[in-house]
Amino acid sequence: MATPNFELFQPKIPNPRAAEPRAGAGNAARRLGVLPMPSLEWNEQVARETAHLYERVKGVVPPVEWPFFAPYVKAINQLKKERNAVVLAHNYQTPEIYNCVADVVGDSLQLAREATKTDADIIVQGGVHFMAETSKLLNPDKVVLIPDIRAGCSLASSITGADVRLLRERYPGVPVVTYVNTSAEVKAESDICCTSSNAVQVVESFGTDRVICIPDEYLARWVATQTKVKIIAWKGHCEVHERFTAAELRNYREANPGVQILAHPECPPDVIGEADFTGSTSALIDFVKTRQPKKVVMVTECSMADNVAAEAPNTEFIRPCNLCPHMKRITLPKILDSLVYLREEVEIDPAIADRARRAVERMVQLKN
Ligand code: SF4
Repeated sequence: MATPNFELFQPKIPNPRAAEPRAGAGNAARRLGVLPMPSLEWNEQVARETAHLYERVKGVVPPVEWPFFAPYVKAINQLKKERNAVVLAHNYQTPEIYNCVADVVGDSLQLAREATKTDADIIVQGGVHFMAETSKLLNPDKVVLIPDIRAGCSLASSITGADVRLLRERYPGVPVVTYVNTSAEVKAESDICCTSSNAVQVVESFGTDRVICIPDEYLARWVATQTKVKIIAWKGHCEVHERFTAAELRNYREANPGVQILAHPECPPDVIGEADFTGSTSALIDFVKTRQPKKVVMVTECSMADNVAAEAPNTEFIRPCNLCPHMKRITLPKILDSLVYLREEVEIDPAIADRARRAVERMVQLKN
């Protein structure tokens, strides 16, 4: 069904796509030095010292795989202490990262905000590049590392700062609300950021009849169904969530009577139409923990069900498995390399950082 308060902006001549993320100059390694690589031998001592962590993941990590993970888990946890570092893990990280080496878990904004509360000197981002940038924006004096600089995001690369300037020219005076899944360069051109959990509140905070809401077309379409404000959107998509189909969800419902279907708002509108509940990753997790449904389908990145399942023993998870290839670039061996060699360091041009930080902080203040 058409949404009357929705308009999709499509430039006649698209700007070149966003550049691939690039590593910083690596000053942290020069300042703080490289450490020796710890032993990665699997032996009885490692088994003993990591047994309590295996308990957390034994439902999703087979015993045969643990001897590979455990030496990395032990080495990472030891190096975090030596470096005074924390690991932030997004809900889409694999269970051995999420449950065994992460100090903070959550969605991208929760991670960056929690990091401001630690006295750690170094943040290792278990997530993708825009998340590491957001952590750096909110923690400018800390060293922020991303274990694989190629961990990008199809939404973040769908739009550039020049695209936002073009939108402003086309719609003068209309406020620009930008999803956190964007580069610092795009945030710097925006009035305020939003997440999937607060997008409606942020859009309505201006009191205007029109708002530009970028870059996720499907999130913007969902927002338009929740507000009277006219939404002007951009045609960016999450390559993971756009793969789900309404027919697939109907099949799950038919095969599993009584199942609760929970969808992320980055899914296409017909998929959201089939869902019983739509919300951000944190809202989906809350739903499972508080309502404890007998059976659920989480229509979002595949690892999240594994991570929530470890804490929700009374719920059976039906698992459609769409993996985010960018999130999966982050692995235990790469996190260990980050802590040993202090790479890849995230740096943001100060002129961009100041403006981008303002957009993020406006949202944070609004939330409070
Ligand atoms: S799941 Fe989608 S939005 Fe999230 S990082 Fe991957 S591509 Fe980007």
